[in-house]
Amino acid sequence: QRIQLEKKSRELDAKVAELEELHQELEESNKKLRLLSMLDGLTNLPNRRAFDEFLTREWSRGIRNRQPLSVIIGDIDHFKNYNDHYGHLEGDDCLRKVAGALDNSLYRDIDIVARWGGEEFIAILPETDMQGAEEVARRMLDKVEELQIPHAHSSTSSLVSISLGIGIMVPREGLEPSALIHMADKAMYKAKENGRNRYEAGTEDAWGA
Ligand code: GH3
Ligand code: MG
Ligand code: MG
Repeated sequence: QRIQLEKKSRELDAKVAELEELHQELEESNKKLRLLSMLDGLTNLPNRRAFDEFLTREWSRGIRNRQPLSVIIGDIDHFKNYNDHYGHLEGDDCLRKVAGALDNSLYRDIDIVARWGGEEFIAILPETDMQGAEEVARRMLDKVEELQIPHAHSSTSSLVSISLGIGIMVPREGLEPSALIHMADKAMYKAKENGRNRYEAGTEDAWGA
């Protein structure tokens, strides 16, 4: 009986080890899956869901350390015309290149740019004031221009360009991060109105009004 019991115990140990290994594998694939679900398939940038998580985290951090938080929304100019004339596949290619240019415009590890929607991107720059955000915005415009993607059907430029809106706030209790997004979005539309291929900055007054 004792021998039988020892045998059973060894078998049980082996089973436990096997289960532990399976559990670890499961955790690893969950991690991979989670990472995949945070990435945009076309551009490989973080997707909107990833951005929302990041924004929530940085907003809370901003409340704690009372540092300004900046976001930059970017929208490709006359992209409908681009698709219509060069085709959807070329359009996808253009999106990938612009995504790369925007990503290359960020120099700090903690800054991220995400694909916000169709041809819209959004960057978040923690602990960044207006001067810093404008610097990044100028770099974004330059890097997109450096791509030298012809756009024969844009009334703005002979090359693909983007319009940018900067939002900046010192996060505080009682305000929602969506206020910051709203501010940047309004500024982006102002950039469109003022001729595209440029950035405009929002102000908290303008947002409140
Ligand atoms: P504006 O300068 O005012 O921004 O004009 P626009 O033409 O860029 O604006 P609009 O919002 O009318 O057009 C956006 C276009 O982006 C329409 C749609 O066909 C295209 N688009 C959105 N997502 C994708 C995508 O994943 N791939 C491709 N190829 N095109 C996309
Ligand atoms: Mg758009
Ligand atoms: Mg557009």
